Amino acid sequence: MRIDLHTHSTFSDGVLTPAELMQRAACQNVDAIALTDHDETGGLAEATQIAGELGIRLIAGVEISVSWRQHTLHVLGLGIDPDHQPLAQGLIALRAARLARAMRMGERLQEAGISEIFRDASALANGAGTIGRHHLARSLVARGCARNTAEAFRLFLAEGKPGFVAQQWASLEQAIDWIRAADGIAVLAHPERYRMPRMAFRALLEDFKHCGGEGLEICRHDRGIAFEQLRTARQFGFTPAAGSDFHAPEQSGVELGVVADIGTDAAAVWLQRASGHMPN
Ligand code: AMP
Ligand code: MN
Ligand code: MN
Ligand code: MN
Repeated sequence: MRIDLHTHSTFSDGVLTPAELMQRAACQNVDAIALTDHDETGGLAEATQIAGELGIRLIAGVEISVSWRQHTLHVLGLGIDPDHQPLAQGLIALRAARLARAMRMGERLQEAGISEIFRDASALANGAGTIGRHHLARSLVARGCARNTAEAFRLFLAEGKPGFVAQQWASLEQAIDWIRAADGIAVLAHPERYRMPRMAFRALLEDFKHCGGEGLEICRHDRGIAFEQLRTARQFGFTPAAGSDFHAPEQSGVELGVVADIGTDAAAVWLQRASGHMPN
């Protein structure tokens, strides 16, 4: 069984449409896939339809932006009902915050002598439910201000850089409440990326658990980190989750279905959340 629990489409900062994403998943022999766009569930209808046609099982998902202490975290909601109102309304507010932030970032870049980035990024995000830093990064590359998006982040968009604007997202409690009320499972995404001291990280895991979080994403590209995370998941009683965080075919080292090994028990938990699942 190949299960990928973390992917993006053009409905956020991915470059494939939901249909293209499902087609690629089929080519990669993925059995079940979650579409988890940033703060947006608009791609799920198309993904569900095409996945059904291709015989892939779709897990309805979302990746929610969260502020915890002074950190930005991402929490995946897996197996959600996207029409559940508190979740849908919460995501609308986050998308409004994203738009306002992107405008401010555009202004800050303008002050730094780089004009039109907000306009370009909006055009790039055209049709997408969310606008994010990735759209600004691609616009900076297109205007020759950076050689690639990684450099655009490093020079302009990372914390402390000229185009960065701090943002207050959902609280951890709020995001997990929305997910659970919508019948989903909350998973802490890519824990290895949060830069915080060990004690703070333990406090985060405790808060996450206390608020009703149930899953921990396991790192796919470093087996040592993955081993530690699997142990942490066992300690806290979290179900391990594995996803590629696929955004684009040209994303180096990332492919749909190429994920950490979480074992068959955990895989069964996620498979149960897929459309087309037959209870037995
Ligand atoms: P946002 O949620 O709009 O602040 O943007 C976060 C997204 O930007 C992540 O989901 C990644 O897709 C992308 N991202 C973050 N850091 C980098 C980086 N250093 N290089 C390239 N993409 C990045
Ligand atoms: Mn992204
Ligand atoms: Mn993320
Ligand atoms: Mn992601």
